[in-house]
Amino acid sequence: MNEWSRLDAAELNEIYVEQLEQYKAYQDRKLRLDMSRGKPCPEQLDLSAGMLDAIRAGEPVTAEDGTDARNYGGLDGLPEAKRLFADLLGVQPDEVIVGGSSSLTMMYDTIVRAMLFGVPGGDKPWGKEAAVKFLCPSPGYDRHFAICEQLGIEMIVVDMKEDGPDMDQVERLVAEDAAVKGIWCVPKYSNPDGITYSDVVVDRLAGMKTKAGDFRIFWDNAYVVHDLSPLPSRLKPIFAACREAGCPDRVFEYCSTSKVSFAGSGVAAMAASRGNLDAIRKTLAVQTIGPDKINQLRHVRFFGGPDGVRAHMEKHAAILKPKFAAVLTLLEERLGGIGIASWSKPDGGYFLSLNTMDGCAKAVVAMAAEAGVTLTKAGATFPYGLDPRDRNIRIAPSYPSLNELQTAIEIICLCVRIVSARKLLD
Ligand code: PLP
Repeated sequence: MNEWSRLDAAELNEIYVEQLEQYKAYQDRKLRLDMSRGKPCPEQLDLSAGMLDAIRAGEPVTAEDGTDARNYGGLDGLPEAKRLFADLLGVQPDEVIVGGSSSLTMMYDTIVRAMLFGVPGGDKPWGKEAAVKFLCPSPGYDRHFAICEQLGIEMIVVDMKEDGPDMDQVERLVAEDAAVKGIWCVPKYSNPDGITYSDVVVDRLAGMKTKAGDFRIFWDNAYVVHDLSPLPSRLKPIFAACREAGCPDRVFEYCSTSKVSFAGSGVAAMAASRGNLDAIRKTLAVQTIGPDKINQLRHVRFFGGPDGVRAHMEKHAAILKPKFAAVLTLLEERLGGIGIASWSKPDGGYFLSLNTMDGCAKAVVAMAAEAGVTLTKAGATFPYGLDPRDRNIRIAPSYPSLNELQTAIEIICLCVRIVSARKLLD
């Protein structure tokens, strides 16, 4: 098929009119399809039904160290829960704090603590600095950006490349400005591109010279076990890389079982050096008397260990793989070879990125909404909601049924074709 940019106005107009008719037919169907967030679908949640019976009335609710999980205490998590997350994250159990149900809450708390009290290696709380800046590889996760925006942290966009953030930009920015205190990273199956950082990127992040002595990498490993392929992407362990580079305190890592067991009733954890964790525990002890240890115990008993988690994730993959495959097939069929869009092809995670021609994403998302398909707001994948090229659309295939998903993607492709034809005709 011809690239559309080579077509003359009459040919483009013919396509435009024909696609518009198809679009109107979809509008008449009054569909309601929500693809705005990456939520597990009901069949995925059913996989963890046994979790609800993992602790029954009359059974002991005692952890391996004798802690009664029903009572107060256990500030930073049960030993068996720490061991489980340590294995999944490739760190030592005493480098882990197991928390409540949300890793996003742990990230938010980490940054608020840094703003109020500082972090080891700093000479004052971040909030007492004239300015605090974070590097934001983009497109990225909208809720990371929302935390910075709410706390008045200035966000600096860094381009995402095929193997992670543009490290030339990152190294320059951290070296020249002491106000740059952090970087957001979703290093495995990034949200929304589905990219896994290369070893070179991990090594450069671990070893780069930062002007701020209290710089931190926020390593949101949300998709650490969320592989779709039998040959999963391998992410180089950042803790060892930081230690080898002589920067053992540089990284805060996060994950949760939100998309392993139940989104909203899972268990979250963070990992950091012992020095970092000692500082965190001091504040945590004021914030809470302890997390939900019954849920921690439930998770440990249900999964039985890290291999149990991995086997469980294969069941998730069996549900998700056909959905990702359907999206990729339709995108290729409807948008391939005509030069109006490109998209990522992840081997795991929850999202993929669809990039339109510059200046088209907002119009596509608005048109899709008018035909009943709700997408993540255009621009949301960039700091302040501003996509400088107005081209990135986040596709979240997990929640809709396969049929609904196919219809939604057909509508999205139609919208991309209509908006692109209109733009080329202008
Ligand atoms: N981090 C990333 C990259 C995500 O995509 C999500 C959810 O979509 C979260 C964190 C939320 O994690 P949690 O449910 O543990 O708060």
